[in-house]
Amino acid sequence: MAGRHFGLCEAVGEALSAGPDQGQNEHDHRKPSHVTSLPVYHKSLMVNVRHDWSIQEIETIYTSPLTDLVFRAAQVHRAHHQADEVQGCMLLSIKTGGCPEDCAYCPQSARYDTEVGREDLMQVDETLMAARSARDQGATRFCMGAAWRDVPTDARFDRVLEMVKGVRELGMEACCTLGMLNEKQAEALAGAGLSAYNHNLDTSPEFYGEIITTRNYQERLDTLARVRNAGISVCSGGIIGMGEDRAARYGLLRQLAMLDPHPESVPINMLVPVEGTPLGSRPAEDPLELVRMIAAARILMPTSMVRLSAGRLALSEEAQALCFLAGANSVFLGDKLLTTPNPESDADHRLFEKLGVKLFGEAPRATA
Ligand code: SF4
Repeated sequence: MAGRHFGLCEAVGEALSAGPDQGQNEHDHRKPSHVTSLPVYHKSLMVNVRHDWSIQEIETIYTSPLTDLVFRAAQVHRAHHQADEVQGCMLLSIKTGGCPEDCAYCPQSARYDTEVGREDLMQVDETLMAARSARDQGATRFCMGAAWRDVPTDARFDRVLEMVKGVRELGMEACCTLGMLNEKQAEALAGAGLSAYNHNLDTSPEFYGEIITTRNYQERLDTLARVRNAGISVCSGGIIGMGEDRAARYGLLRQLAMLDPHPESVPINMLVPVEGTPLGSRPAEDPLELVRMIAAARILMPTSMVRLSAGRLALSEEAQALCFLAGANSVFLGDKLLTTPNPESDADHRLFEKLGVKLFGEAPRATA
């Protein structure tokens, strides 16, 4: 154990050897000129993006002393991102409940008796009204979630395409999470201007069967490959606090980091236990595990957006600050994340002000 922080330095240090032009990402254009005024961090810390992390390397990183881990993650973060900015996203459930899948954490599964009811697919105009409101609250990315196993091939899909077009016309990034999709649907979504498609791996392949039995891990990877092939950016992450051990977290991180290219967006969630689901009585996860998970994701996937996602309501302001320091650079705004509670927008804006964090790239107003 005593040598672990050296291991971390080595693991990261090797990766830090890349020249200044390596590891640039799609977000670099956001780096304003004042980035050069940041005191310590510079492009020499840019890391060589890798896809071959071993479980042992990930364990070494994840289990290093917390201050070492956060320090290293912060260095990597500052080399690739503007450290005082986070992206605001809003996630709306456009079709709620009645899902045939059995994800053990999810109140929208038809298999569990929860307080979440069933609602049909929303209309385009209601959805765009919500997107405008999200934009007014500072969000630049609008995510639409539907509780489907597979994306339907009927008029409902056409309606989703209209929603995507409408969100893009508002000047926002549009993301969808609709379940498994086929090649044609991926291409249609790309044609409508979809910026990103979310499909989480949730956990490691080894622990996956404890959480979901109605579709397998490979099906998830196949959906991600179709998204990538269609030219849509990939959003994929996972959840901690479901009863998995740390090895399952290393396994999830490895799976994500093996994707080439890395997912542009990596949401890290902490379970929000919901009564009526199989995980409804899980004890609260230690927020410092979330910090470790975020820091490890940042080190392994330096150019990705790491999104501090579900479970933020359970975090103190200090814990959230630590997550930002460890490399989280996006949060979900609004008081609901699909069907689970999330901090009020005002509380978020107060926190950002206290921390000196800005929401980046607010979308242009009233283009539609
Ligand atoms: S997480 Fe998604 S796929 Fe799983 S039960 Fe919930 S809505 Fe269905």
